[in-house]
Amino acid sequence: MIETINSSSQAIALEDKHGAHNYHPLPVVLSRGEGVFLWDVEGKKYYDFLSAYSAVNQGHCHPRIKDALIEQASTLTLTSRAFYNDVLGPFEKYITEYFGFDKVLPMNTGAEGVETALKIARKWGYERKGVDENQAVIVVAENNFHGRTSTIISFSSDNNARKNFGPYTPGFVKIPYDDISALQNALVDRNVVAFLVEPIQGEAGVYTPAEDFIRKSAEVCKAKNVLFIADEIQTGIARTGSLLAVCGNCTCEGHCEKQDTYTKPDMLILGKAISGGFYPVSAVLADNHIMEVIKPGQHGSTFGGNPLGAKVAIAALEVVRDEKLAQNARKLGKIFRERMQILVEKYSILKLVRGKGLLNAVVVNDSPDSSTAWDMCVSLKDNGLLAKPTHGNIIRFAPPLVMTEEQLHDCCDIIEKVVKEFEK
Ligand SMILES: *Cc1c(COP(=O)(O)O)cnc(C)c1O
Repeated sequence: MIETINSSSQAIALEDKHGAHNYHPLPVVLSRGEGVFLWDVEGKKYYDFLSAYSAVNQGHCHPRIKDALIEQASTLTLTSRAFYNDVLGPFEKYITEYFGFDKVLPMNTGAEGVETALKIARKWGYERKGVDENQAVIVVAENNFHGRTSTIISFSSDNNARKNFGPYTPGFVKIPYDDISALQNALVDRNVVAFLVEPIQGEAGVYTPAEDFIRKSAEVCKAKNVLFIADEIQTGIARTGSLLAVCGNCTCEGHCEKQDTYTKPDMLILGKAISGGFYPVSAVLADNHIMEVIKPGQHGSTFGGNPLGAKVAIAALEVVRDEKLAQNARKLGKIFRERMQILVEKYSILKLVRGKGLLNAVVVNDSPDSSTAWDMCVSLKDNGLLAKPTHGNIIRFAPPLVMTEEQLHDCCDIIEKVVKEFEK
């Protein structure tokens, strides 16, 4: 029998008993979402300040993406890639023009997108750069987050994510984040085929590198014939106040290649918000000279490129452009950090605020082992705002990008109230 949920405690008890304990959620059970708002099973309304880790940049249940999903779900959902379908081609044309690459390889989850990029980079290294078989090295940054597969956790710095999941996939070298000379040193090794990096480290606690880190990284890679791979699964699709974080400070909604701001990666990995929160879609974009190393049978996924996901992704990208979400994220992000900066200066419980666009974090002035940030998030929840701590004492604030200025001020008032409570 399928139980009907009547209370939060009932739903939590069910998950506790029947689900694997691979997450530690805040004690709130959500049953409805619309735009920037979520409602729990008791009917309490919340501002969402996580956006499903930036997967719902367009806001919850966006009507335009919902219509696209329903229409395609009533027509054709999955054929596998054994046959062509009439949505994949138009999606591939749309997304490659949107981001300015020759080709796309569609997958489903972010981790699959990263795996795809790693495989392409290695193959490119052997076939185009002339690296000896099985010697390819991929450089990554310390404190990275690129997903949860066996290979990806092999190069994680997070002991909890790694421990007892070995043996680990070899062929990765870690360097400090935001360290160009460390990158230069690492690329002395001729076997290096790629540098994989997040333009802002989201999961690590929204670490924003130096302004020129991305541009310089790409230059260093180019000089050494090494692929520069940007993992924009969390930072991409307007989150940081431009279409992509690699766009620098360009605010336009489309692909423009403005020379002084845009850094074109050799491979771009997208996920999360390309789904609009409806249906998992990820994608790797690259130009022909790279993507052409993949031949039939060498990589794929039963669901990758299915018509349902393709239709959803087109609608999700259209919303970002038509509703000017990058501009809104940039404008609101500035206001948010200004308001948080006032709190940082006024209350000793907050250490600092950092971020870009609407991907921000506040560092709580207490040990990462303390429960302060968690307790603050519980109090924020009680006051109608949902956010989640990361790495103990960091709270990430990332609302849907469809938020209004008035709503944002309302949210900042809630945060201020809670900070005051904790100041004592
Ligand atoms: C979330 C995330 C991933 C993994 O995406 P999944 O869909 O959870 O597999 C990879 N890289 C970055 C930067 C992410 O934020």
